[in-house]
Amino acid sequence: MQERVVLRRLMALSILVLAAATNLAAQYPQPGPDRVYAIKAGKLVDPEKGATETNQIILVRGKKIEAVGANVPIPAEAKVIDLSKSTVLPGLFDAHTHLCMTLKRPRDGYSYYITTLMDPTPYRAIEGVANARDMLAAGFTTVRDVGNSGNYADTALREAIERGLVPGPTMINAGRIIAPYGGQFHLQPEKRDLATPEYAFADTHDEMIKAIRENIHYGATVIKIVVDDQKYIYSADDIRFMVEEAHRDGLKLAAHCWTRAGAHNAAEAGVDSIEHGEMMTNEDLQLAKKNHVVLVGTDFTESAALENGFPELHSVFVDRLKRAYQVGVTMAFGTDSFIYVPGETRGTQAAEYVDSWVEAGVPAKDTLQAMTINAARLLGVDGERGAIRPGLAADIIATPENPLDNIQAVRKVSFVMKDGSVFKNE
Ligand SMILES: [Zn+2]
Repeated sequence: MQERVVLRRLMALSILVLAAATNLAAQYPQPGPDRVYAIKAGKLVDPEKGATETNQIILVRGKKIEAVGANVPIPAEAKVIDLSKSTVLPGLFDAHTHLCMTLKRPRDGYSYYITTLMDPTPYRAIEGVANARDMLAAGFTTVRDVGNSGNYADTALREAIERGLVPGPTMINAGRIIAPYGGQFHLQPEKRDLATPEYAFADTHDEMIKAIRENIHYGATVIKIVVDDQKYIYSADDIRFMVEEAHRDGLKLAAHCWTRAGAHNAAEAGVDSIEHGEMMTNEDLQLAKKNHVVLVGTDFTESAALENGFPELHSVFVDRLKRAYQVGVTMAFGTDSFIYVPGETRGTQAAEYVDSWVEAGVPAKDTLQAMTINAARLLGVDGERGAIRPGLAADIIATPENPLDNIQAVRKVSFVMKDGSVFKNE
């Protein structure tokens, strides 16, 4: 009797698994001739203009957008996707992710140093696959992944996504984070190697060049440095030196700045982006603006700050976000989510960060620009994605409400098309 119950449950389970697998298979990029879709958009948002048009048709052929307009003829071979009751917009960007790391409570406490010691690279690559899928499901079609990926799990994940092996956002990845001795950890002298491979320590200019070139060799497509998590921090000269090497090699440079002094040096050196920067003064925000530095503020929501163990910093981030908006420094949306929270996914946690933007009083249009066109420019992919325009990749999402009316709408993404493949349609 019991055996039969077990058997019946097993059968039911296998049917469920099969159903899920069949459903997933349809979401993968399929081989064969280019598929053609005609998306009927009730409302179509252009974040750059902050404008909404009604009753538009987006024609997608293969991976790209072919035409957009009210009177685009629908070819006979096109499959029609009816989003006439939704708002359609370009896929979102998160310019500060750590897909290949998930801090787990209670095991790791508040220390991702423990996470890196406990989880080997192969496991972290698999976590990366799951996090990438969840980001895509939440509408994030492009991410910049800024390190803490073990031994280049991020490169493996990027390549797997690019080959269509697994679904995920387009990735720009940083490989190993370059930092002054110790990185973001506090080591003990008997165990000096425990920050390897997470960080590449680089204190001299020779070490900096070596670290940048090693990263590029192993598949990094952006350089990430930590300016200031030790008492000794990178000077503006050190940072400028690394920016020049990265740019010579065709990569941009992102600088983690947790202190006022660190952010000042990075702004002066003209990095491509300052990450966090919560202690920035208005003068340094002005300096960043003057030097074309983008702020990726990772503006921790109240709950995200609590999860990170620094609830007091939430208001600091929101205040700096408000000041940065007033100064007019270019901003790109970035989250820094890496903690497992029951009932949430990496994607839902990332989308929640719009709460901080609302709290800081940033208009929906500007927040949406930070989540699309500004991030696309920072990542250097604005010629390929970040807008709904003929010739660009078909990274298209939809929401029940218009995010220009209420930015919280981006937390309820109901449709996701990635590179012309439908990933989600609810
Ligand atoms: Zn981070």
